[in-house]
Amino acid sequence: MRYCDLHTHTKFSDGANTIEEMVCAAIEKNMISIGISDHSFTDFDLRYCMKPGSFNDYHREIDRVKAKYAGQIEVYAGLEYDGYTKLENRELYDYLIGDCHYVKTCDGYHSVDHAKDEQWQAIEKYFDSDPQKYAKAYFETYAERTAINRPDILGHFDLAAKFGFVNEDDPTYRNAAIETMLTCLEITPIVEINTGAISRRIRTTQYPHDFLLKEILSHNGKVILSSDSHRPENLCFWFDEAVEVLKRIGFTSMMVLKGGKFEEVGL
Ligand SMILES: [Zn+2]
Ligand SMILES: [Zn+2]
Repeated sequence: MRYCDLHTHTKFSDGANTIEEMVCAAIEKNMISIGISDHSFTDFDLRYCMKPGSFNDYHREIDRVKAKYAGQIEVYAGLEYDGYTKLENRELYDYLIGDCHYVKTCDGYHSVDHAKDEQWQAIEKYFDSDPQKYAKAYFETYAERTAINRPDILGHFDLAAKFGFVNEDDPTYRNAAIETMLTCLEITPIVEINTGAISRRIRTTQYPHDFLLKEILSHNGKVILSSDSHRPENLCFWFDEAVEVLKRIGFTSMMVLKGGKFEEVGL
C-alpha cells in the first residue's frame, strides 16, 4: 500500500534531519505524499518549537523542495499546532494538526509529553496524585483548544496516557475521553492514528486507543495515519500494523492528502 504521512519533524523544530532528507526518504519509500509538520511557536516552552524568526525559511524550504521533487512525490506544508499557540498566517499552511501538549494550572503550563517524571510531578502537585483527575483536565483542555483553533486533524488524542499513569480501562476515564472525542469530531472529523510512541518504544499501541477508534467509526469520523517521525527511518512506522488494527475495528477506508485535498482510500 502507498502511504501518506503528514506528521513529521525536521531540524526546524525537534527533528534530526533536514526537510530535503525527509522528502528523499519518502520518495525511497514510494509514498504518495509527505507533509512537514514542525512544532508551532510556544512562547512559554522553547524546548521543541520553531522560533519566530524561522517560519519564513521553513515555508521557503518546503516550497523549494516541493518544486524540486514535483512528479516524484507531493510535499505539503503543515504545522503541529499546539493548542496554546497564537497562530498567525494560518493561510500559509496546507493543513494543521491540532495537539494539546500542556495542561495549564495557576502556575503555568505543564508538559504532558516531555518526560515521565515531569508528567508525574504535575499529577502529584496539581491533581492530588490522581492521574484520572489529570486526564480529565487534559481532555477539557483538548476540547477547549480544538473549539478555538479548529485544526484540520485531531493529533495524538489521548497523549495524557503516554507514560502509563492513567488507567485506560477506568470507566470514568473512558467516558471523559469519549465525550471529548465526540465533541471534537463535530469540529474536526479527521483523527490521526499516531504511531510515534511505538517507534520510540514508549507504548505498544497507537493513539487513539482501540475503544476510541470504535467511537470514531460509529460516529462517521475519518482516520489518517501519522508516524510523528523525527527521523527518516521512522516515516510510515507501524503503518501496515495500524491498517490491520483499523480493519479489525471495522474501518474500510482512511484519508490521505492528495492533489491538495483530503480524500478517502480503501483499506
Ligand atoms: Zn506532539
Ligand atoms: Zn509531533
